Amino acid sequence: MARYRGPVCRLCRREGMKLFLKGDRCYTDKCAIERRNYPPGQHGQSRPKSSGYGLQLREKQKAKRIYGILERQFRNYFHKAERKPGVTGKYLLTLLETRLDNVVYRLGFAPSRNGARQLITHGHFMVNGRKVNIASYQVKQGDTIELIEKSKKIAWIKDSIESAMHRGIPQWLEINPEKFAGVVKSLPTRDDITLSIQEQLIVELYSK
Ligand code: SF4
Repeated sequence: MARYRGPVCRLCRREGMKLFLKGDRCYTDKCAIERRNYPPGQHGQSRPKSSGYGLQLREKQKAKRIYGILERQFRNYFHKAERKPGVTGKYLLTLLETRLDNVVYRLGFAPSRNGARQLITHGHFMVNGRKVNIASYQVKQGDTIELIEKSKKIAWIKDSIESAMHRGIPQWLEINPEKFAGVVKSLPTRDDITLSIQEQLIVELYSK
């Protein structure tokens, strides 16, 4: 799966907020947003505020960048959400949040979604006892996500889980740090997704 390989702090600076793309560094004062919170580039500090289409575009870019998804796949998620009865924007966020790479990250197995994706594609995880190496796999309520036996010895994964537990695991998930396993207790509601994304602007953008 294609993905963005450029400097990630630049993406946060472009969106004017922390997107937490770099793991532990994001929680330190080395974070680029703490040091230079203005858009990158020669005209970064003089760029005028956008309105209308510009705001919708930025909101879509922000969501794509947080979840590490490129345009075509993101649009596919939107079309899938659009076909469901109910509020499209909310369902779009639920689809993104229940991707396996996001769940692995939220459970603390990896310090970033990028790291989670790498662990998954290298075959470190089982879902309901079966190996899954597809980062975009959609988890369902009741699914169990567990590290394979030999990966349980990797020290930094244990540290990562401890840091995540310290920061707080979302209510819709549960982690058992001794077993290196997590459970999807329920599907996330909009209130569970605390990201600052205005999903309605994304819906408006794609509905033009
Ligand atoms: Fe974004 Fe993290 Fe870089 Fe800060 S350190 S700018 S939050 S990726």
